[in-house]
Amino acid sequence: MNAKIIETLEKNAVKPTPVRMLVLEQMIVQQRSLSLSDLENLLYPADRITIYRTLQTFVKNGIAHIIEHQHTGSVYALCPEGCTHGTHIDDHPHFFCEKCGKIICTNDFSYKLFQHNAASKYEVHKTEMTISGLCPECKKQTLQ
Ligand SMILES: [Zn+2]
Ligand SMILES: [Zn+2]
Ligand SMILES: [Zn+2]
Repeated sequence: MNAKIIETLEKNAVKPTPVRMLVLEQMIVQQRSLSLSDLENLLYPADRITIYRTLQTFVKNGIAHIIEHQHTGSVYALCPEGCTHGTHIDDHPHFFCEKCGKIICTNDFSYKLFQHNAASKYEVHKTEMTISGLCPECKKQTLQ
């Protein structure tokens, strides 16, 4: 686990400090987007400002992206392969679970038509599509 975390940080030109490693570890382990407060709770007693700065560094260097959602506020999710310093390719819809509030990145949708690339007829400035419903765990609970 630690080797993978250090590799991801170094690949994105981020110096592996203990807090950065802990934040990235939680983002990988939790497998969902996390708010600053989520991370603060998970990493208690780590300092809120330090966690916030770490997230800003991750966003700047292509490790994480911010999702603004009307129900949850700003949350952070890991970037797909291909995001680098200054260039994010995160134009994917986000799935919002109405029950547990989880926000999940959906990278396998076929509307890549709208993605930023030279061949596209569109010029996209912002992608805000959100899909709402129940995540697999909450759907299972409903059926029981
Ligand atoms: Zn990204
Ligand atoms: Zn759910
Ligand atoms: Zn995402």
